[in-house]
Formats: sequence, structure tokens, C-alpha cells
Amino acid sequence: MSHGPITDATDTLRARLTGRVVTPGDPDYDTLRTIVYGGVDRRPALIARVADVADVRTVIATARRTGLPLAVRCGGHSAAGHSSVAGGIVLDVRELRMLDIDVRARTAWAGTGLTAGELTAATAEHGLVVGFGDTASVGIGGITLGGGVGYLVRRFGLTIDDLLAAEVVTADGEVLMTDADHHPDLFWAIRGGGGNFGVATRFRYRLHPLPVVTGGMLLLPATAATIEGFMAAAAAAPDEVSTIANVMSCPPMPFVPAELHDRPVILAMICAAAPEAVATDMLAPFRALAVPITDMLAEMPVTGMYPPEDPDYHPLAVARTMFLDHVDRALGQRIVDAIEASDAPMRVVQLRALGGAMARVAVDATAFAHRDSEVMANVASFYVGEDDRPRRQAWVDELAAALHQTDDGAYVNFLTDDGPARIRQAYPGATFDRLVELKRRYDPTNLFRSTEVIPTGV
Ligand SMILES: Cc1cc2nc3c(=O)[nH]c(=O)nc-3n(C[C@H](O)[C@H](O)[C@H](O)COP(=O)(O)OP(=O)(O)OC[C@H]3O[C@@H](n4cnc5c(N)ncnc54)[C@H](O)[C@@H]3O)c2cc1C
Repeated sequence: MSHGPITDATDTLRARLTGRVVTPGDPDYDTLRTIVYGGVDRRPALIARVADVADVRTVIATARRTGLPLAVRCGGHSAAGHSSVAGGIVLDVRELRMLDIDVRARTAWAGTGLTAGELTAATAEHGLVVGFGDTASVGIGGITLGGGVGYLVRRFGLTIDDLLAAEVVTADGEVLMTDADHHPDLFWAIRGGGGNFGVATRFRYRLHPLPVVTGGMLLLPATAATIEGFMAAAAAAPDEVSTIANVMSCPPMPFVPAELHDRPVILAMICAAAPEAVATDMLAPFRALAVPITDMLAEMPVTGMYPPEDPDYHPLAVARTMFLDHVDRALGQRIVDAIEASDAPMRVVQLRALGGAMARVAVDATAFAHRDSEVMANVASFYVGEDDRPRRQAWVDELAAALHQTDDGAYVNFLTDDGPARIRQAYPGATFDRLVELKRRYDPTNLFRSTEVIPTGV
């Protein structure tokens, strides 16, 4: 990349933005360019810390005029590293932190610079909630645009099922307020279609009253029988109960006996959207599967579901997202065998029972088309350095192939840099065709290409 466009873009943005322009010489450049996954080390030409919608328009216009590649960054959790771009412009929305909670109407306008944890903490003060995922530091930008599967998925649906409206700046610099009645095609596309259609600057969410949940971590030994039993209990549970079963090598947690470290366990995160007096019966089938190694299930505000995080943690991981039809004993045994056969620092098959409220929305109502899928799975392995990566990737690929049943889908928010065929699997059938048409309409030059790109065909 020649320095002409970079100098041009830097000078233009320094002169015109209300927010900051950060370049390689700045002391916080490295901090600000760092994203969550450790394997991605890109050096953007500049980071534009936009302060408002006008700034977003200016950055988009500058990227178009200079031809510099553009990436949009919110919480920085993209496993493919899409929120950074070498030699290009990172449009960083983290300073878009407006928040307006209407307690009476049970809605909130939220700037897309907020994280899931920040928004959850703010609404929880009013006993209200919108569901996100399992991690507080994930940005509401990325998780919402891709769908959002978390601790309330069976109770209230995906995050997008509570998205009422969004303000989006499109590739031609237009600021569109989109909802079910205004630009409904765009509203359909941004509910699952990711960052393809514009920069979302704020979202309006529906909030649900939920003063407390009963949940947390339940650690069980992982055997073919407990895995099968856990997923059967999760499928049979009332909609209040959403679960994430991490069948994994046991982390060296201080409260777990040392002889169990690195052994296969089910590290389950369970959330019953109910007070303890009601939830105890709902949780009993999980507790009955085996003598728990650790049982931390308790009544708490929903914020308690987010474990503490280390901001300096940047894991090296390979992963594959997929959906399963069912989890039986043979599949459970296959997972246990694979975890025992690997010596990676951490290896995991994450199983999320779906259904409930999420499945009651029509498949074609949004661009997230996996409403009928039964179980979301993510096969992942940590690795240590590039030399270690190929065999960990082989472990993931082999196990994912062995677990595959009939559901060919993929969840866009868990894709790694898997290529166009996998993006096609994230958007099956008519969903893909409609997204292509809308990408052509809203981003014909593919400005927003640092994402899971919907092809424009041009
Ligand atoms: C530790 C971890 C746990 C996770 N847990 C869950 C989970 O439980 N449930 C779940 O559903 N997902 C989960 N995810 C996946 C997560 O939802 C996606 O990685 C999501 O894209 C991250 O959003 P972000 O804003 O943090 O990431 P970023 O990397 O900042 O953004 C990812 C992409 O989203 C787009 N984007 C972000 N903000 C905007 C915006 N304002 N306007 C336009 N485009 C934008 C861009 O294309 C960008 O490249 C998890 C990821 C990690 C790393």
C-alpha cells in the first residue's frame, strides 16, 4: 500500500473527526489495535475512534475516496480477525456509548460501542434484560448483527428477536433508521447478516423483566452417559432453562481436585430464568446426572452469569462451528475419546441445546436461518505457537467430521476464517439469495468486506 492514500486519509480524518485518529506512532496504538484472538496481529494504517454518526459518515467517505480497506471494530471478538485490517482503516465504534433506557416502555437505545456486559449491567439495575451470549466483553455490535445465542435463548430467543430498530450508516453515507416499517429489507438483513450492510451506530432493544436468574456453573464428570443425559435434560427442560455444556479437558481450577485437572468434564453453564424457589425443580435433572464435582448453581442477578475476564487474555485457538440433530451415547463417547486422545492445552466441544423461544420465530423472519436446529456445537482446541497449529486444526477437523449428522448449517458469529463455502452454510437456501440481492443494493462495491462477506457478484 503506497503512503499517498494513508497520508491523505490520516490528514482528512484528523481535520474532520470529532473523535480521535490513532496511528502507529501513538502510545496507545498497540492497545487499541489488539483484538481478542491471539493469532491475529494486523497493523492498520489508522484507527478512527468515531464519536458520532457524522464521524462514521466521514470515515466511510474517506475509505471510499482513498480506496483503503475498511474494517469495523466493536468488541473485537471476531474469531476470523475481521475487526482489524493490515494497512487500512479501522472504524472503531467503542466510543459510541449512548444509553437511554425507557423503564416504563421496557426498551433501550444503546450505542454500539457498549459491550454485552455493560448493557446487561445497566438494564439489570432496573430488573430488565436483553439476552446476549456467554461473555461480557463481546461487543453488542458483532453479536447482535450475527444473531446472538446465549443464556436466555430458549426463554426470550436470539438477541435479534429483541432488536426493535437500528441506526445504520450505509456504504454511500446515508443514515438510515431501520425497523419493521422503515427499510424493512435492511432490518431483515442486519438481523443475522453481520457487518455486510453498513455501520450500526445504535440499536433499540426490547427489554424483559427478569430481576433474578438461578444458575451458574455445574461441573460434572464427562462420560458417554452424562453427556447424553445432560443434552436430553436440556432438550426436555422448560423454556426458562438455557444451557451451555462445555465438554472439555478440565481447567486447573483451584477448587477442583488436582487429579481431575485435564480430565474430561462437563463444565456446564446453566441459566434458569426464574427465582430459586421455582428453578430448583428445573435444575434437578442436571444435578442428578452424577455427583457434581462442583455445584455453584444459585440465585443471582443475570450479571452473575458472566465470569470475570482478564483483558490481557488472548488465546490461540482453532475452532469449527456446526449444528447437531441430537446427542446420543455414541456421540458422547466419541467426544470423550477425542478429548482424552489430545494433549492440547485446552480442547472442548461446546454443546448448546436450542429450541424454545428461538425456534418459535419463522425461519425466514430474519437472516439467521437456523431456527429449526436442535443443538449448536463448537469444536475447539487451543494451540501453542504456529508449529502446533496444524495438528490442533486436524484434531478439530477430524472430530467435527465424526460428529456431523444431517444439519449442514454454521453460525456466522462462530466462523473462523473458513472461506466462502462456510459462509454459504451460515446462510442456507433462500436466505443467501436474499442477502446477495440486498448486498448488491446496499453495498454494491463491497466496501464492508472485512466480515463474513456476502458476495455481490461484481
Ligand atoms: C470468548 C467469546 C465468546 C463468545 N460467546 C458467544 C455467545 O455466547 N453467543 C454468541 O452468539 N456469540 C458469541 N461469540 C461470538 C461473537 O458474537 C462474535 O464474535 C461477534 O461478532 C463479536 O462481536 P464484537 O463486536 O465483540 O466483535 P468485533 O470483532 O468487533 O466485530 C465483529 C464483526 O462484526 C461487525 N461489526 C461489529 N460492530 C459493528 C457495527 N457497529 N456495525 C457494523 N458491523 C459491525 C464487523 O463486521 C466486525 O468485523 C463469542 C466470541 C468470543 C470470542
